[in-house]
Amino acid sequence: MVRKGILIVVSGFSGAGKGTLMKKLVQTYDNYALSISMTTRPPREGEVDGREYFFVSRERFEEAIDRDGFVEHACYLDNYYGTPVEYVERELASGKDVVLEIEIQGAMKVKERFPSALLLFVMPPNIPELERRLIGRGTESKDNIEKRLKRAREEAEGIEQYEYIVVNDDLEQCVRQLHSIVEAAHAAPFRNRSLIQKMREELDSCYIHRIQI
Ligand code: 5GP
Repeated sequence: MVRKGILIVVSGFSGAGKGTLMKKLVQTYDNYALSISMTTRPPREGEVDGREYFFVSRERFEEAIDRDGFVEHACYLDNYYGTPVEYVERELASGKDVVLEIEIQGAMKVKERFPSALLLFVMPPNIPELERRLIGRGTESKDNIEKRLKRAREEAEGIEQYEYIVVNDDLEQCVRQLHSIVEAAHAAPFRNRSLIQKMREELDSCYIHRIQI
């Protein structure tokens, strides 16, 4: 029996290391598919169209909104970001656990539309380390780093909406922890309704069979 894929939402402050974590997660285990978002943000140095994001104009993004092409979309620091619907549906149907690495407004929209989605929040070990990571990345202006830290403070208000927190201190350990959470989530009764139903039916027929003996 192919187990049903879980829609996994991963959020966290900019600079918490979500991107690196997710890449490592999909490289280490074969049950994951990482969704690639569409954005109007210009590519950073080293980013490739179709790998980190699909980089598009505002017009193309708005066209996709109009034809209902997103699972969710949101605006983050003046740019649009959205999760294209086709890939997510296809991979979930094939049994993959699909990871959406998205910010908090998008996460809340996903939870509303798919209540069984699993919501995870990645934290840095502490805030000085977050600042160091943002500066060390060397891709963001000072002004942008400040905006991202301010945004992190706002996002911190929503952390309790998530089911689990993971602290990204040691990459390998954090990846193992994320994977254990997902494996545990697969064992929840509400994700195994058909298995439970099948057991009940088998018990019923075995009971009826014995009464007839
Ligand atoms: P960045 O510009 O650093 O790549 O991403 C900025 C924020 O947008 C991050 O918190 C990232 O997780 C989020 N993000 C990336 N793709 C999506 C998406 O498709 N939808 C939403 N709602 N947020 C996204």
